[in-house]
Amino acid sequence: MPINVLLVGVGKIARDQHIPVMAKDARFRLVGVVSSSGATVEGVPTFATQAQAFAALPDIDAVANCTPPGPRRAYAAEALAAGKHVLLEKPPTATISELRDLERHARASGRTLMTAWHAQHNESLDRARALLAGKPLASLNIQWKENVRIWHPGQDWVWDAGNFGVFDPGINALSALTKIAPSPLFVKSATLDYPANRQTPVAATLHFSSEGAAKDASLIAEFDWLKEGDHVWRIDIAAKGGPALTLTFMLGEGGITKLAIDGVPSFQNESTEYERIYDRFARAIEAGESLVDSAPLELVADAFLVGARREVAAFAW
Ligand code: NAP
Repeated sequence: MPINVLLVGVGKIARDQHIPVMAKDARFRLVGVVSSSGATVEGVPTFATQAQAFAALPDIDAVANCTPPGPRRAYAAEALAAGKHVLLEKPPTATISELRDLERHARASGRTLMTAWHAQHNESLDRARALLAGKPLASLNIQWKENVRIWHPGQDWVWDAGNFGVFDPGINALSALTKIAPSPLFVKSATLDYPANRQTPVAATLHFSSEGAAKDASLIAEFDWLKEGDHVWRIDIAAKGGPALTLTFMLGEGGITKLAIDGVPSFQNESTEYERIYDRFARAIEAGESLVDSAPLELVADAFLVGARREVAAFAW
């Protein structure tokens, strides 16, 4: 019997990935969508609220939540309380306490809760993690720079407080980092650039410390949402005594993530991120486990806690 899925929030990522990937995986069946704007998906009914969907389709097993993070906790808590498994798009919630609350709901209901950090689902990262394991960090340089007008055209919610701004894409880099880093990283300081007319940052620089790393080791991440020309999604990371790794994410260009070791191209995986997410979700449901990773969200929260605010030019689409 397939897992009957209700999809909540019919936006870009729902249409680009969740719906086509579910259609290819016989373990899942999309049975309905919840859309605040009345969006439709061929072959399944649209509901205005989740509660209406649960009432009309009692055999819903799971909910894939593709809304922005702001409304996500309320939807997910309601779904878990109704006995459904829940898959959360990234960032999983607006705050850490909301994610902790959902973990409690999942435990209480005995259902699966999974945080879908898509950037983590790359084989290149599995290889990088293995190469770095057990070694202190020597250097880190994350460059995550793209044009918000291309990647989030007209999505005004990205500028509302609680919706992350440049950390909406930036948290992808941090989710890759927390997956491969050989020891925990801490945000030592940060600079956050806020457009004069907006509530979330358009650029940010983070400086990290890490257990075992030299005090003066350069461990930085730079995020920019106003990059002209080609985007850059790149992580350079080196352990003491080597190796030096470069991960290049090319999601918009055929979906490839490349790994170079000491400057030599060594591996590239096809981007099967969402196929891997749904595979992991199916196996977690089968095993009766939850897969909740809060580490990337904690780094972003810490950046907001320690970050110095700078005002920059107003943003208009
Ligand atoms: P989007 O195109 O704006 O879609 C989000 C959808 O959520 C909206 O279309 C809307 O659908 C629904 N929604 C419910 N409450 C909302 C609210 N308060 N404000 C705005 N929309 C609301 O955004 P998206 O790009 O798909 O991103 C959604 C989530 O996926 C984000 O957390 C993002 O970080 C993540 N994500 C996006 C991408 C990407 O390439 N865009 C990639 C990976 C992950 P209805 O009208 O149907 O209710």
